[in-house]
Amino acid sequence: MFRVQVLGCSSAVPAFGRHPSAQYVQHHERGFLVDCGEGTQMQMLRYGVRFKRLEAIFITHLHGDHVFGLPGLLNTLSLNNRQEELHVFGPPGLRMLLEDVFKHSQGALRYPLKITEIGSPDHSVIYETPFLAVEALPLNHKVACIGFLFREKPKRPQFLALKAQEMLVPKAYFRLLKLGNAVTLPDGRVIEPAVLQGPTPPQYSFAYCSDTAYRPALAERLQNVSLLYHEATFLETELARAIETAHSTAAQAAALARDAGAGRLLMGHFSARYKTLDGHLAEARAVFPQSWLAFEGQVYTIGPGTAEEAGFVDRKPIFNPKHHETEAE
Ligand SMILES: [Zn+2]
Repeated sequence: MFRVQVLGCSSAVPAFGRHPSAQYVQHHERGFLVDCGEGTQMQMLRYGVRFKRLEAIFITHLHGDHVFGLPGLLNTLSLNNRQEELHVFGPPGLRMLLEDVFKHSQGALRYPLKITEIGSPDHSVIYETPFLAVEALPLNHKVACIGFLFREKPKRPQFLALKAQEMLVPKAYFRLLKLGNAVTLPDGRVIEPAVLQGPTPPQYSFAYCSDTAYRPALAERLQNVSLLYHEATFLETELARAIETAHSTAAQAAALARDAGAGRLLMGHFSARYKTLDGHLAEARAVFPQSWLAFEGQVYTIGPGTAEEAGFVDRKPIFNPKHHETEAE
């Protein structure tokens, strides 16, 4: 099971009920956080994300709306008596930022915190589990910024257990056959593993690209990505502003998804200047029909099934006009 839960999808400041950037990614039983804007731990509590499952945190860049929630979360994990090591990845400066916060707040974490700063993201694998590899992607922002690509490792072909039973292969030989070995049965028959192999399950992937100016070259590296999360801070009417601030428009995010042959596009990091996001959806779908707006709390699964089954449904965002107190974008 590969799933993504959006915890925050606002850019710069909280607005209209939208929180700063954070997403919880789960693969099998392992949990990962990507970005950690202010209030992320509150959003985790709100949406029932299990703190204990967190295995690594990936920070794209050090702008406040992507990292100001991190010291608080790390502190809470310590107060919750976490013992297991936690691995945090991010751009250069992350170590000093965290060390300074904990030095001046006199907080000592009770668990080992391993910080890895990624100087020049070059698509190399920075983290892996038995089933998943995480690659760092170069993004193009005002400060050093990294995207992350979660890619399932190659899977074994399905084992046709029913067929094996029909062929009267004793169960004791199943494991060897599943691992791709030929076996000689007590009756002298030699069974080749290919005889009992079904289709190979697809490898799913998830890319997280925020914040960045439109970077068409990424399409090549993101070929056939199952789900692309890409920032869509602005609409094309604000293209000049997008270029100036090194952000993307909804149409640009969709163009990248189209050129990468992505399964679906999930857009987020919406500017506080937009009360509603209908414009983003229309603009993106004109370029790439499988474009969707991120909704906080929503769980998106990556795998087989229809868009609706995977959590992609059009619905009106929670709109709270009182949550708009700023001119920032
Ligand atoms: Zn930024």
